[in-house]
Amino acid sequence: MLFLSLSIWACNNKPEVKEAERNAEAREDSAKYAEAVRLQSLISFAVEADVETDNVLADSLDDSADDPAIWYNTAKPELSLILGTNKKAGLYAFDLSGKTKNFIPAGKINNVDLRDGFNFKGKEYVLVAGSNRSLNAISLFLIDKDSAMLTDTIANIPSGVSEVYGICLYKNAKTKAFYVFVNGKEGDFEQWEINAENTKGLNFKMVRKFGVSSQPEALAADDATNTLYLGVEESGIFKMNALPDADTTMTRLAQSDTSSNKNIAYDIEGISVFEYNNQKYLMASIQGNFSYAIYKLGNEDSYLGSFKIVNGSFDGVEETDGLDVLSVGNLPNFPGGIAVFQDGFNHDGKQLKSQNFKYLSLDKLKDLLK
Ligand code: CA
Ligand code: CA
Ligand code: CA
Ligand code: CA
Ligand code: CA
Repeated sequence: MLFLSLSIWACNNKPEVKEAERNAEAREDSAKYAEAVRLQSLISFAVEADVETDNVLADSLDDSADDPAIWYNTAKPELSLILGTNKKAGLYAFDLSGKTKNFIPAGKINNVDLRDGFNFKGKEYVLVAGSNRSLNAISLFLIDKDSAMLTDTIANIPSGVSEVYGICLYKNAKTKAFYVFVNGKEGDFEQWEINAENTKGLNFKMVRKFGVSSQPEALAADDATNTLYLGVEESGIFKMNALPDADTTMTRLAQSDTSSNKNIAYDIEGISVFEYNNQKYLMASIQGNFSYAIYKLGNEDSYLGSFKIVNGSFDGVEETDGLDVLSVGNLPNFPGGIAVFQDGFNHDGKQLKSQNFKYLSLDKLKDLLK
């Protein structure tokens, strides 16, 4: 009897081993990986991560962690949160030391973003939106600012895009209206308005649909200028007007494609817009050479340079999907701000672990942020 159950156990486990092998082939044992390492060696500006988070709960060979979002807690900066998706399972909240505060098993949350100042049932919260691939929906969560805790899912907005993928929130600086942009793998986009005007609950309204011709992922909105930035994986970084009634003409950022910039090696993945010393910048993760490109934004957008995150107290960072950058505030240990990166290959010594996120003090990039 024991023998029989053991053989069934072995049998049932076989397909999983095969899947792990396939994942390993896709992720590591490839000419693409070797080429990315070779190209990374051509990037000279190198920094080391300051913190790494707990590993997400997944197999070490799974592509699991994906996208972070930073919440700056104005009342208690030391209780700020870093949200991070596990695209196989849900959404994590980590503290500034990288320890898990809580985990919401909300489904396959791919990307995440947040905005402060959301009024819901008579109280002000942080609104959190995640692209949920289990439901093909936009999942909404809150951060309770008093307890500095991420809540359970409060609503799911069913999306009509091909397969939800990238997501970002946008809060109109003038009207204070909240919007969420979501895209699908086919390049289709939806823009939804979200409000909680009455005490009964949330209202959603789709305000715009548009599309691009190849696969987009990263999205980031600059509330102050009503601009939506899009990373289109194999074509560059584009910007367009985020206002719901604006036309959808897109303009490519100069030097954001491979033909005009040797440091751009597709895919382009996570993007974030941030301010540093009163100047606005955009950072993008460039998966094809395990690096990050920085653009100065203004009347004329320009490429400033690229950097990489190498081994130090923690392992270096490779094949980053999502990233987020925040420079305002007064975070303990991160005086000039913080940048958070998904790490596609999280090593502890020589051992490959399940994926996690790395934090970087933004001041380490000050010579690039000119
Ligand atoms: Ca990945
Ligand atoms: Ca994000
Ligand atoms: Ca990708
Ligand atoms: Ca790594
Ligand atoms: Ca590590």
